[in-house]
Amino acid sequence: MPTPTFFAAALLGWYPRHRRDLPWRHTRDPYAIWLSEVILQQTRVAQGMPYYLDFLSSYPTVQDLAAAPEQEVLRHWQGLGYYSRARNMHHTAQQVVREFGGQFPATYAGLRQLKGVGPYTAAAIASFAFDEAVAVLDGNVFRVLARVFGLHSDIAAPSSRKEFQAVADQHLPPAHAAEFNQAIMEFGALQCTPAKPDCLFCPLQSQCWAFQHGQVALLPVKSKAKAARTRYFHYFVLRHGEELYLKERLSGDIWQGLYDFALAETDAADMPAAEVLRHVEALGGVLDTRRVAEDRPAPTLKHVLSHQKLEARFHAVELAAELPAAALQDTGLRAYSAAEIEELPKPVLISNYLAKVS
Ligand code: SF4
Repeated sequence: MPTPTFFAAALLGWYPRHRRDLPWRHTRDPYAIWLSEVILQQTRVAQGMPYYLDFLSSYPTVQDLAAAPEQEVLRHWQGLGYYSRARNMHHTAQQVVREFGGQFPATYAGLRQLKGVGPYTAAAIASFAFDEAVAVLDGNVFRVLARVFGLHSDIAAPSSRKEFQAVADQHLPPAHAAEFNQAIMEFGALQCTPAKPDCLFCPLQSQCWAFQHGQVALLPVKSKAKAARTRYFHYFVLRHGEELYLKERLSGDIWQGLYDFALAETDAADMPAAEVLRHVEALGGVLDTRRVAEDRPAPTLKHVLSHQKLEARFHAVELAAELPAAALQDTGLRAYSAAEIEELPKPVLISNYLAKVS
């Protein structure tokens, strides 16, 4: 098993020769680092980069982000999924302005007081921006530590964090905290990868427990998540003239604040035409029978979330008249032009549908 000196020296030697040139590595601004970390928890580096650049140019400071309307922030986030993260990010920016005078706390403990800033993000900001000697633990780091030190605890179990954190902290050289943290994460992302680690040309090979014991493919131990269940959504895309009816989703779900069509959830992928009609009537709609395209199939789009799969069928309905005011009040629906819809924040499923039919 490697000594602290060997492990840190090997990583710090490897890092300058292999690291990717990423924009958030050129800054010590805790706001920019925080933005990059929130986005990278959500997506891969290549996909996250345009979002990072867009957020920084739209909101160059934490004050700018805090002052932005929530809908606008959600619109910039669109496509990354998990809108609750964007909302939390917005609230955190407001907290930094309100409670900390617009300055991010300069310590790990201080950063942990911020809403939505967990141990990983706090450690990343504290070390990258302020050089605090605190080790980061993300999926890449868990994997590297499990293999190199032969740690067999289930990394999906919250109780394992303490053990891995202790090992990481023990090997972190206090004078090179930021670089060590960057190095171990990059090493996990590029060299000690989940499926095809490059053990042949690895500087840790001679002291790596998993390699020496032929257990690279068995580590880290990670219990399987429950199989995702499938949910069936039926969207009623009500059109009158050039306008479509959408509504804002209210609190209590992951799409809060986003706009979608009238929706019924059932336990079947299909819905007979008569039932579609019943739903439309219940929404206050009167079908324009002259314009029903009977043989036009309702498109189905699939969308995978972390614990569920969505199968969404979109029933396009031409209305003979506008929805009555009472129905609008009951349902929260409102008619929007194509240009207005373009500006609304929407779940990716809805954006994909609109792109498909435009
Ligand atoms: S030898 Fe293989 S398993 Fe061990 S650290 Fe290197 S790449 Fe990872």
